Amino acid sequence: MTSGASPVRPIPAEMDAWVVVRPGPVASHPLERVRLPVPVPGPGEVLVEVEACAVCRTDLHLAEGDLPPRRPGTVPGHEVVGRVAAHGPGSGRLAPGTRVGVAWLRSTCGRCRYCLRGAENLCPASTYTGWDADGGYAAYLTAPEDYLYPLPRDVPAERQAPLLCAGIIGYRALLRCELPPGGRLGVYGFGASAHLTAQIALAQGATVHVLTRSARARELALELGAASAGGAADAPPEPLDAAILFAPAGELVPVALAALDRGGTLAVAGIHLSDIPVLDYGRHLFQERTLRSVTANTRADGRAFLDLVSAHPPKVTAVPYPFGAADRALSDLAADRVEGAAVLVG
Ligand SMILES: [Zn+2]
Ligand SMILES: [Zn+2]
Repeated sequence: MTSGASPVRPIPAEMDAWVVVRPGPVASHPLERVRLPVPVPGPGEVLVEVEACAVCRTDLHLAEGDLPPRRPGTVPGHEVVGRVAAHGPGSGRLAPGTRVGVAWLRSTCGRCRYCLRGAENLCPASTYTGWDADGGYAAYLTAPEDYLYPLPRDVPAERQAPLLCAGIIGYRALLRCELPPGGRLGVYGFGASAHLTAQIALAQGATVHVLTRSARARELALELGAASAGGAADAPPEPLDAAILFAPAGELVPVALAALDRGGTLAVAGIHLSDIPVLDYGRHLFQERTLRSVTANTRADGRAFLDLVSAHPPKVTAVPYPFGAADRALSDLAADRVEGAAVLVG
């Protein structure tokens, strides 16, 4: 992958940003637009000037309080495409102006048993962009240089931004559901992450069945090459070797487990899930059906996914919103009015 550099502009003292002031339903306007000082990169960090930031369902969970805030007044946003604007002490590997991606995983300890065995996504000391530290609903943010992904400059930033969480986490979910080559994959929910993951699976030769409540999302699924598209709780037309639950709806866990063939695996992709109803061992788990979660991603997942998409770019359905309309983007996401990925630009 070639990374692109562009001229660095003078850094102002202050910037526009959105912060979560009081978590609550989107109708109560949990986000507020404020002026903040442009952050100063600490040791090992870089200052990134934001070009685009995609809006993830996790932002909605943070704004609405489903995920409790880890610090007050945090700037959300963890699917950031920007350019390196300045370096903190000890950083400097990435040249000024280099286009980079900032993703959800912000840092890990590098020393615990999970980090040492290549499972840094499980590090108990891991921190997250837009949760433990300010994210990309702002003109600038800081991030550890070792956790940035260099990105090519010949693709519009708004089409790269959704790859950084929706894409990477979906890719990890696809690994976790252990779809066999040429297998039958069920995709439950068809938002930003699902529409990217389905394309990766299709490119790898899978048969994809999409189950979602949105009629327009079902149309998009068929346009992208899905073999079938049904309602969220419908049975797919054939048993599934693997399934991924993207919708944050626990009631779909038994539905998806019942749709699995013998030996099939269901991976739950979301960080937040509503309550799972009681499972019936015989119908939902016996015959070696497996239920697994997906927790964030490792940097290796991120690099593998970004290499994959640079060779075979997926069709990214980005729905641009002006930076000043971040609260409207979240409301639209909450009401299922976004077909694809909402992205803040400008
Ligand atoms: Zn660790
Ligand atoms: Zn996300």
